[in-house]
Amino acid sequence: EKKHNVVIVGGGAAGISVASSLRKRDRSLDIAVVEPESVHHYQPGWTMVGGGVFRPESTSKPMRTVMPKFVHWYQNTVASVDPERNQVQLKDGSNLAYDALVLAPGLELNWGAIDGLEETIGKNGVTSNYRLGCAEYTWQLVQSLKGGRALFTQPPMPIKCAGAPQKAMYLSSDHWLRSGAIGNIDVQFHNAGAVLFGVSDYVPALEEYIRRYNIGLNFQSNLVAVDGPAKKATFRVTDGEGNSWDREVEFDMLHAVPPQRAPAFIRDSVLANDAGWLNLEDDTLRHRNYPNVFGLGDASGTSNAKTAAAVRKQAPVVAENLVSTLHSKPMKAAYLGYGSCPLTVEKGRIVLAEFGYGGQLQPTFPRWINDGTRATRAAWFLKAKQLPALYWYFMLKGLEWLAKPAARG
Ligand code: FAD
Repeated sequence: EKKHNVVIVGGGAAGISVASSLRKRDRSLDIAVVEPESVHHYQPGWTMVGGGVFRPESTSKPMRTVMPKFVHWYQNTVASVDPERNQVQLKDGSNLAYDALVLAPGLELNWGAIDGLEETIGKNGVTSNYRLGCAEYTWQLVQSLKGGRALFTQPPMPIKCAGAPQKAMYLSSDHWLRSGAIGNIDVQFHNAGAVLFGVSDYVPALEEYIRRYNIGLNFQSNLVAVDGPAKKATFRVTDGEGNSWDREVEFDMLHAVPPQRAPAFIRDSVLANDAGWLNLEDDTLRHRNYPNVFGLGDASGTSNAKTAAAVRKQAPVVAENLVSTLHSKPMKAAYLGYGSCPLTVEKGRIVLAEFGYGGQLQPTFPRWINDGTRATRAAWFLKAKQLPALYWYFMLKGLEWLAKPAARG
């Protein structure tokens, strides 16, 4: 059995950022990262690939170039965690021991929960920007559709980047508006939830675009089955009294987003809360029952928006509090629930939603640069030109630009 000061599970946005932020605070730490994949993906770029703005290649890099040189990388999968014995078990049967553990395995896209989706995704007009390699197909479909019906679906919350299902819809509609096809296309949004966006301050700006593109809104309409060859989608619709029934809708194009959950080794373990996500303290991001276990990113059970933007603020908090814990000092850093969702309402303008716990607005920039509740060109410039570089060259490297942790208490 090998032992490290810190074992990090996952080499995604969260795992790599936290490794770098830890190193910045304590160069003596022996850090291991367990990550099975050979490629690291910048998932926020997939919306832009689906809108024909980014090339697919620009959203990924070989894992070996992203993995910091100072970590011990186990290219392996964690099968289970034994927090009582300070051990993780890997898929190949070996064990790793730790002084402190960071859980950052992201979340699981539950494609199987929608009958028939897995078989047809990537063909028959069925696509998803959430699927690795499929965003390019979204853009192909958008370009070739000249008339008919286009459906965009959103599953029950929580999901990563809650705005991404509608971002795909707005960017597609923008293309159809510019190409003159929009009058021949019946665009429908089917949302399992009851509101357009969870933070009401942003809703008026989004509704303006719903009107512009003449989109049909369907709430409490949850995609449950897809028949690709027949081009039919089945929705379970629920009314105000809780009655529900199934409704079939034919489509020419379907952008589907599956329900999402924590990975099984978290969900079915003592580390999970009642909903199956990591049971963390909201402010310190330390596990509620195991003081040498921390977590961040999409697997976390905290109520923030699951975004890379949230990770940018979480990583320094975890690093700071973990180092304090290793030195038996009180934890000083607090995460206030920041998350951000750049809603791409048209090519060239974005509604930049930035908010913390309880939907409290947390804008990064003063109003004269970017008024988050309205669509602006400045926010598009940020998303299209600056955020990818911020991700690759700042966040993953532990350069904590505008991410200084708040003090606790
Ligand atoms: P990930 O980046 O998904 O990484 C998890 C890593 O853990 C993976 O590399 C995986 O291989 C590894 N792993 C999983 N299980 C195990 C295991 N058992 N053992 C070891 N390793 C494991 N965020 C924004 O901020 N802005 C946006 O505009 C935005 N748009 C998005 C659009 C789309 C279409 C999608 C899909 C996401 C978007 N996001 C956006 C969300 C953002 O990508 C995620 O919030 C972010 O990647 C979360 O980081 P993470 O490290 O928790 O998870």
